[in-house]
Amino acid sequence: ISGPSGVGKDSVLQALKLADYPFYFVVTATTRPRRPAERDGVDYHFLSRPEFERRIQAGEFLEWASYNERFYGTLRAPMTAAIAAGRVFLLEIEVKGTRQLREQGIPGIYLFIAPPSVDELRLRLERRGTNSKADIDARVRIAVEEIAAAQERVGGKPLYDHTIQNQDLPTTIARVAELIGLRR
Ligand code: 5GP
Repeated sequence: ISGPSGVGKDSVLQALKLADYPFYFVVTATTRPRRPAERDGVDYHFLSRPEFERRIQAGEFLEWASYNERFYGTLRAPMTAAIAAGRVFLLEIEVKGTRQLREQGIPGIYLFIAPPSVDELRLRLERRGTNSKADIDARVRIAVEEIAAAQERVGGKPLYDHTIQNQDLPTTIARVAELIGLRR
């Protein structure tokens, strides 16, 4: 699942978690500083830049990308464990990382959640209150790029299987659950 910062991805994932859908939420790694409400190992594996770079060199990432001057990446180990256990896993990553998964032929249902408009997205980021003005500006700029990039094709196929416009959260949650084919 991808979508610009502030589009409501976390709310969708949170709702699916609370609804007890049997999927495995993959915790990814980042060099971004931890926000007060976040927990290491739960929301992200928070790594220093040198540690992240060491793990890139060691080939530990299935994909990684830089976003807003920080590194984000999916470690192979938890993914391999989830696949081995036959679990449906859910990954929330940005567009450049998604492209790498497609290029590697990783099977799955690739979803992009889009905002009703860029203005609405900015409003949501401002209302969320977790990002500074400069950070919001950067995230909105990246969002415009991501919305365009989400329409790309990789190897003749669309990068994303579906784009869902998040007009209202309950509808989006129901649609995501339906598209992933999750059954309780
Ligand atoms: P945030 O700083 O808001 O938590 O995340 C910024 C962006 O990084 C979001 O679009 C999020 O989906 C993406 N992201 C989180 N983890 C990963 C990852 O492991 N790989 C990639 N490529 N993107 C990630």
